[in-house]
Amino acid sequence: MRELTMLGTGSAMVTNCYNTCFVIQMEEGECFLTDAGGGNTILRQLELAGVDCKRLHHMFVTHGHTDHVLGVIWVIRKIASMLNQGTYEGVFHIYCHDVVREMLEVMTRLTLKKKDLAQLGRGILIHEIRDGEQMEFLGMKLTAFDTLSTKAKQFGYAIVFHDGLRLCCLGDEPYNDHAEQYAKGVEWLLSEAFCQYKDRERFKPYEKNHSTVKEAGEVAARLGVRNLILYHTEDKDMEHRKENYTSEAEKYFKGNVFVPDDLEVIAL
Ligand SMILES: [Zn+2]
Repeated sequence: MRELTMLGTGSAMVTNCYNTCFVIQMEEGECFLTDAGGGNTILRQLELAGVDCKRLHHMFVTHGHTDHVLGVIWVIRKIASMLNQGTYEGVFHIYCHDVVREMLEVMTRLTLKKKDLAQLGRGILIHEIRDGEQMEFLGMKLTAFDTLSTKAKQFGYAIVFHDGLRLCCLGDEPYNDHAEQYAKGVEWLLSEAFCQYKDRERFKPYEKNHSTVKEAGEVAARLGVRNLILYHTEDKDMEHRKENYTSEAEKYFKGNVFVPDDLEVIAL
């Protein structure tokens, strides 16, 4: 079965859950990771999700903010040390835009030990991708696109799986019309929702270039998607987040709404 596991579901400064990142596990067990949160907790989340790094050969990094990119250093370190121990087969591919590539190169150079660093360019390849570029791996076709963020350069992506199912990840910023060609009518749309609309004065999402559940629901409705996954949220009421966010999204969107907790598994 093809599954998406949310490794983290929170925005940058959360303490009651991990930062937003997730893994898609294909039918044959190979994994595709998107972002890695802000630190070493990525390794714990992968372990708790039952993801063996031996089955992880592809990763996408959306942008260079702390809550997405710092965990990538830990994933690189983990796989580099497995490569050096002879316990990892094949090549680990990281797909990202030019800014993230440069960040990863600088940060790994400053933080990794020589032996691990030596795996970059050998067992670990960082592929710089451009807006609209397509690539194929694990039997799926991925098209990366610029989300036209006003803060930091950010890429989302659209995937077409081997059976034609489509999924679009908008990254951690509000939908922009540039993404319409990739997001329209998809079976699965992954969108940020910083907080509920009723809490906008409290959490001030618009100041941070984020949106609320209401806007995410409206976008999903307009795009005619079938399933909407909301993530990258505040973490002040985790106990009721699923229920509260779902009911707000359902006011605007008639498809299926998912507000996953960390480590929740969604069958695709
Ligand atoms: Zn973020």
